[in-house]
Amino acid sequence: MARYEGAVCRHCRREGVKLFLKGEKCFTKCTLDRRAMPPGMHTQVRRRKVSDYGIQLRAKQRARRIYFLLEGQFRLYVNKASKMAGVTGLNLLRLLEARLDNVIYRTGFASSRRDARQLVSHRHITVNGRIVNVPSYSVRVGDMIQIREASKETDRIKNAIDAAKQRTTVPWLSVDHDNMTAKVTALPGREDVDQTIQEQLIVEFYSR
Ligand code: SF4
Repeated sequence: MARYEGAVCRHCRREGVKLFLKGEKCFTKCTLDRRAMPPGMHTQVRRRKVSDYGIQLRAKQRARRIYFLLEGQFRLYVNKASKMAGVTGLNLLRLLEARLDNVIYRTGFASSRRDARQLVSHRHITVNGRIVNVPSYSVRVGDMIQIREASKETDRIKNAIDAAKQRTTVPWLSVDHDNMTAKVTALPGREDVDQTIQEQLIVEFYSR
């Protein structure tokens, strides 16, 4: 599967917000705190009026980067959301939140979505007792997610959980950090998703 291998802090600088792509470093030594300007040369002197298209594009790019997806993957989610019953924007957010790598990040078993993706593809995670190594796997209400027994002593997982204990988890997941398990208890509501995501602008971008 194709994936982005470049520097990630530049994504935060481009979007002007913290996207939390580097785990604990984002809370302690964030690049954006020191260099809060877009990447590239001459960015400080640029002053341009942003068009509607530009606003929609930025909203789309920001969400895509938060979930660490390539354009093709993100577009597939938008297409799928538009074919589902209900509001396309909320459908899209729910599809993105239901990705197994996102869920692992939300539980605190990984310090970033990027780290979570690696945990899944390296077979550290089980869903309902079976190993799942597909980061895009879509969880459902009632699913039980666990760190595999053989992986429970892994330092990076234990460190991530220690840090996560200081933070609150989302209400649609029932997380047991001590036993390294989590249950999906509901679908996420709009209020449970990153408030910087403007899903209506994303839908408008793809409707052009
Ligand atoms: Fe973004 Fe984290 Fe880098 Fe800060 S440290 S700029 S939040 S990826």
